[in-house]
Amino acid sequence: MDADIVCVGFGPATAGFLSTLSKQLVNADGTPAMESAVSPGLSPQVLCYERADDIGFGVSGVVTTARALRASIPDIEKAGIPMAAPVGEEKVLYLLDPIGASRRSALLRLADKTIRAFQWALPFERDALNLPWTPGFLHKRGGMVLSMGQFMQWIGAQVQGTGAVQIWPGTPVSQALIENGKVAGVRLLDQGVTKQGAPADGFTPGMDIHAALTVVGDGPVGAIGRQLDDLFGLPENHHTRDWAVGMKFVVDLPEDTPLQPGTVLHTFGYPEPEIFGFFYTHPGRVASLGIFVPSWFDSPVRTAYRYLQHWMTHPYLWHFLKGAKLRSWGARTLGESGRRGEPHLAGDGYARIGEGSGSTNVLTGSGVDEAWATGAQLAEAVLELLRAKRPFTKENLEATYVQRRRASWLDQESRAAEKSRDGFQLGVLPGLIGMALAGLSGGRLVLPGQPLRPWERIPSLEDYFRGRIPPAEARKIRDDCYARGVSAHAALMERAGWPAIACDGQLLVSHQDALLLGGKVQAPPGYADHVAFIFPNECRRCGTKLCIEACSGQAITPGENGVPNFDREKCIHCGACLWNCATASPENPESRQVGTAFRAAPGGLHSAEN
Ligand SMILES: Cc1cc2nc3c(=O)[nH]c(=O)nc-3n(C[C@H](O)[C@H](O)[C@H](O)COP(=O)(O)OP(=O)(O)OC[C@H]3O[C@@H](n4cnc5c(N)ncnc54)[C@H](O)[C@@H]3O)c2cc1C
Ligand code: SF4
Ligand code: SF4
Repeated sequence: MDADIVCVGFGPATAGFLSTLSKQLVNADGTPAMESAVSPGLSPQVLCYERADDIGFGVSGVVTTARALRASIPDIEKAGIPMAAPVGEEKVLYLLDPIGASRRSALLRLADKTIRAFQWALPFERDALNLPWTPGFLHKRGGMVLSMGQFMQWIGAQVQGTGAVQIWPGTPVSQALIENGKVAGVRLLDQGVTKQGAPADGFTPGMDIHAALTVVGDGPVGAIGRQLDDLFGLPENHHTRDWAVGMKFVVDLPEDTPLQPGTVLHTFGYPEPEIFGFFYTHPGRVASLGIFVPSWFDSPVRTAYRYLQHWMTHPYLWHFLKGAKLRSWGARTLGESGRRGEPHLAGDGYARIGEGSGSTNVLTGSGVDEAWATGAQLAEAVLELLRAKRPFTKENLEATYVQRRRASWLDQESRAAEKSRDGFQLGVLPGLIGMALAGLSGGRLVLPGQPLRPWERIPSLEDYFRGRIPPAEARKIRDDCYARGVSAHAALMERAGWPAIACDGQLLVSHQDALLLGGKVQAPPGYADHVAFIFPNECRRCGTKLCIEACSGQAITPGENGVPNFDREKCIHCGACLWNCATASPENPESRQVGTAFRAAPGGLHSAEN
């Protein structure tokens, strides 16, 4: 099939692209404002393929300054987007450890003791210090609290309503078509295959869609972005070593909640000092809340789900959450390398937008507005080229799209943010100091630190728990769990002092119940497994098995002969297994695809509330 423009993924970046583009392709009377090269007499044919089962079935916050969103949708506040609220009260809280299980440095313990000793003179309540002052770059004053799922459904309807664009959910793109070193379109995923990918009953090979321009907005773990990274390489000194697993709950708050819509709480310090938390309140007593587990948290048992439960039960947060009910749950990884993870933004026949193009600002923790801005900038560039009837070559896209991006606030702010988190490589306190320095100096002052890959930094189980669990016992606990086919983090954490979670069946639920109640995970048949262990020998030798412990859906479990099992019925497509491998890829140590292949596939979370 032939199209003029084909887009991969419908996240905020592609929404910004299609929203800006679609308004200009057709005149008010419905006649084409410019002509398609493949369907003469019609407006340019624009197709967008999204792998998730419906529009907005991803997962993300979100609180945003909405600068770029407002530039495109000036009346966004009045648009009636469900779950949206203007940002109200904002707090940044340092959570102290109420149970003594958290791994804190001597310096942090001293700080905690000092805070407790002077709590009578400080804004301190329920084991939390409300920071009396926070730098402006952390504020979202004047911004909005949104549900990204609801916003995407709303904008998807607006874009399709123009009649100029088609969006196809449940349709994963398996690869970019490469012809003579240029991107010539995309190939959709084969259907009617076995789990191993062999043709079976009803085999339908993935259709090829040829297009003059392929817009790659498939996020930080997208298969097409990674294919292009592998093919064209990254610019010198760029890498994608920093990331975080973001896991969240959407909950109904108790009827007597004191929290007003628009309330924004950010936390750090607990359950482990490295873990950041967020709590955003929507209208109608609904809240989105969760944690980020960053790549520089050097734990071989860095489970997001268990830590999320300990975070929710911190006395400060439990005060608001006691009696709350789970509505929806999910997780997704974020690319946190920012500008340093920027790939080649354009090439012959393609352009990269959104988080996969390094747009997320790691200083302000803002990704949606930046992703949208890159899409809108590309749309303006594409319209300029279409009007001038100039082809989508690397040179033309550089002179229009990349130049617009470089000249914008987005690029300026991403430069200031580029090294702002390097201090975290040295520890949490240096990390926070480094962020403050970078934020207050516009990126001129930073603390140095070299981001490492997981296999360079993750200690063995025995080393991580040394002083808390004797090495032989840690090994035995893990071996016993693996013999039962389950991950070991819960047993190890409990042995190291973390209390068992007292499940209440409505908010504190087992991981499996979260999959069923909150994630409603779907795994359509007839597709190949999208997670596979591509270096089984490395897995057999691997003592850390980070992929099992970090899996957000308990979809990766201990397998026979040391090679993990994968159960796609539980996979929420978060992409954590792509980054969380404790062993270097024997083929390319810099590759994001280490022990596990993470391919395009349909299914995953089934909720548009996240
Ligand atoms: C828990 C969490 C909380 C967050 N909170 C905030 C916040 O408060 N504020 C903020 O600004 N940002 C926040 N972010 C970050 C924000 O969500 C991202 O920066 C933003 O969504 C990036 O947009 P994108 O369009 O580039 O990519 P994505 O949102 O990742 O969208 C990419 C889309 O492409 C699809 N796709 C991928 N591969 C394929 C394929 N092969 N074929 C077809 N489709 C494909 C995916 O399904 C997805 O829908 C948060 C993220 C998480 C995970
Ligand atoms: S995928 Fe990586 S972390 Fe998982 S078992 Fe294999 S080598 Fe170990
Ligand atoms: S197997 Fe699925 S749920 Fe588990 S880490 Fe990988 S993508 Fe996430």
